[in-house]
Amino acid sequence: MKTMAMAMDLSTPIEQIARIGVVFQKKLKKLGIKTVRDILYHFPHRYEDFSNIIPISKVKANENCCILGEILEIKDSRTWKRKMILTKAVVQDKTGAIKVVWFNQPYLTKTLKPKDNVCLAGKITIGDDGLHLSNPAYEKITNYKTQTNLIHTGRIVPVYPETEGLSSRWLRYIIKPLLMSFKNRIPEIIPKEIIQKEKLLSIEKAIWQIHFPDSITLAEKAQKRFSFEELFLIELAVLRARMKLNKEKAIAIPMDIELVKKFVKTFSFKLTDAQKKSTWQILKDLEKPRPMNRLLEGDVGSGKTIVALIAGLEIIKAGYQVAFMAPTEILAKQHFKEVSSRFKDFNINIGLLTGKEDKFISKKLKEETIEISRNKLLEKTSMGEINILIGTHALIQDKVKFGPGPSGLALVILDEQHRFGVEQRAKLTRDRKGTVEGQSPLPHLLSMTATPIPRSLALTIYGDLDLSLIDELPKGRKKIITKVIPPAEREKTYDFIKKEVKKGRQIFIIYPRIESGKTEITKDEISGWTEVKAVKEEYERLSKEIFPKLKLSMLHGKMTPKEKERIMQGFKNKKTDVLVSTSVIEVGIDIPNATVMLIEGAERFGLAQLHQFRGRVGRSKYQSYCFLFTDSPAKKTHQRLKALISSENGFELAEKDLKIRGPGNFSGARQWGIPDLIMNSFKDISLVEKTRQTAKELLEQDPELKNYPFLLERLKQFRETIHLE
Ligand code: ADP
Ligand code: MG
Repeated sequence: MKTMAMAMDLSTPIEQIARIGVVFQKKLKKLGIKTVRDILYHFPHRYEDFSNIIPISKVKANENCCILGEILEIKDSRTWKRKMILTKAVVQDKTGAIKVVWFNQPYLTKTLKPKDNVCLAGKITIGDDGLHLSNPAYEKITNYKTQTNLIHTGRIVPVYPETEGLSSRWLRYIIKPLLMSFKNRIPEIIPKEIIQKEKLLSIEKAIWQIHFPDSITLAEKAQKRFSFEELFLIELAVLRARMKLNKEKAIAIPMDIELVKKFVKTFSFKLTDAQKKSTWQILKDLEKPRPMNRLLEGDVGSGKTIVALIAGLEIIKAGYQVAFMAPTEILAKQHFKEVSSRFKDFNINIGLLTGKEDKFISKKLKEETIEISRNKLLEKTSMGEINILIGTHALIQDKVKFGPGPSGLALVILDEQHRFGVEQRAKLTRDRKGTVEGQSPLPHLLSMTATPIPRSLALTIYGDLDLSLIDELPKGRKKIITKVIPPAEREKTYDFIKKEVKKGRQIFIIYPRIESGKTEITKDEISGWTEVKAVKEEYERLSKEIFPKLKLSMLHGKMTPKEKERIMQGFKNKKTDVLVSTSVIEVGIDIPNATVMLIEGAERFGLAQLHQFRGRVGRSKYQSYCFLFTDSPAKKTHQRLKALISSENGFELAEKDLKIRGPGNFSGARQWGIPDLIMNSFKDISLVEKTRQTAKELLEQDPELKNYPFLLERLKQFRETIHLE
């Protein structure tokens, strides 16, 4: 018996599947398909209904049909221009015969021979010599009577997202036999009670019906089951991670109301109600002896930094340290400046640590900035002398150590958190050197973002309890006038810009990533050089032809941090009037004097991202404008851009983005490693709520999932691909 081939299971690598050669293994891997399970879970995105086989005598011009017959003759020929190979055939059944033609598929005559019985599905066209079945899907029939094994024709046929040279035809050819050999062998991971209560298809039925459905209704039922399954797994993973985090310790910081009042008094403005509410939620969290994990979400300019600083001050005054990480050097320096001025009367040591190119590190003590060496700064940080260390990714290097014991790191603030990877975030909080899981206290984590996450997703990742929203802008801000500009009105807009500059204002011009439109992305496109080239050209054109009298500068992703910093500082100090930039401008720099945000190729950006750009202006008492340039006549584009005009609410816009453009384009969604397929399920908020509730109930009854071994095992694999804090 030992000689029997090892049985495959769901985790068997694709290399061991007989029909998949090396070339296809590579293609599959590009799509992230590594195991049998991955293939079986590679679902069609639509279906073609060829289930109605009709007699040849009944076919009609311009209609789709499926016929069953015998090949009378088949042969290749070339078109008279010799450019195209035509395969012509005649197929007949009891009721009649029809001509069939395929274009450029010369290999067909090797598989299909006269006397073969075939099932053909496609469209009937009218040619010079009568009706044709044109380029049909084909399938040889071995058993004419029963036709049970049809997979490409004669049934509802799955159509898969066709990427990387994997055709639907090939996928069907691989998936069908896999389904056969896994018949009754795929474990059901959803508990029986839930299957019954939610009236879900069983795994056995669903996996067949999603690939080879007996009816469209059953296909939909199967899809519903898998949406449920995926969301259910995510919800379980999140809730379990949360349970684990709740077991961890953190330093409890008693709320010091007097201190907060004293600090708030130093502001030249009043906090908005939303800022007050968020501050309160954060300070409440800090009082608990377990780590906070809170997302502070608010539109650009809503004043998140000040809220974070109130929390930071509480931590520092209780004797602990704060780490404040931003995604770019420009931003880190901007924060350093703001923190320095806000904390100047509070006797606080502030450190700034940025990228490797920076030789000097500054330390601020009561208003004077002292430049000290990096080693000195690291030493002071490790002694607990630096109260708040601000910086870029440089903060997560191993050599950055915070103070020991009672003077150690108690709060991590992450600005623009969507710009950081999961590992980076974890490194600052969970995986710090020298911490022992479950014993050493973890720092509290406050993440900030202006990239609105759709509500369904936010609820899942953070839950109701850990999301603070700043949903109002400080008073007195003028509404930004947003307009879509058709090509004919370019000149007028440029004139308007000249007038604004004359009044002393400044202008942003954003240039999108340029894509060639080919499916193969070129190396330059991946590395961003195409984008840089486009911006350079535009910069030249604008400087020479449009604004010869204005001072322009340019910013793009290929510049060193130093160069970028120089350009930004120059713009901030009004050395230039117009800043032409790629999307690198996105994150939170503050230039109150800028009043126009002009976006070229606006259709190429997501709504949430456009909204972010728009937030760069309107930061002062001056009326500000956002102009969206687009050459695209597509209706969808205008529908989307209109949404931007009618809404100033980033949340709403993210929601619309998800609906109109789909999850693939939802910026920031991939940071959790959630595949597009699952993201699709997030469109359905009631399903999200239901799975969440179901997962909660299950965990209340069996927190360790002892009675559900298959589910537990699946969850473990799942956790390896999906990252949740
Ligand atoms: P963001 O939420 O985009 O990070 P910032 O924290 O950079 O916003 O705040 C934008 C600007 O608004 C800053 O100059 C800040 O000092 C100011 N600001 C913050 N809160 C208020 C407020 N309640 N009223 C007026 N201005 C405020
Ligand atoms: Mg900010």
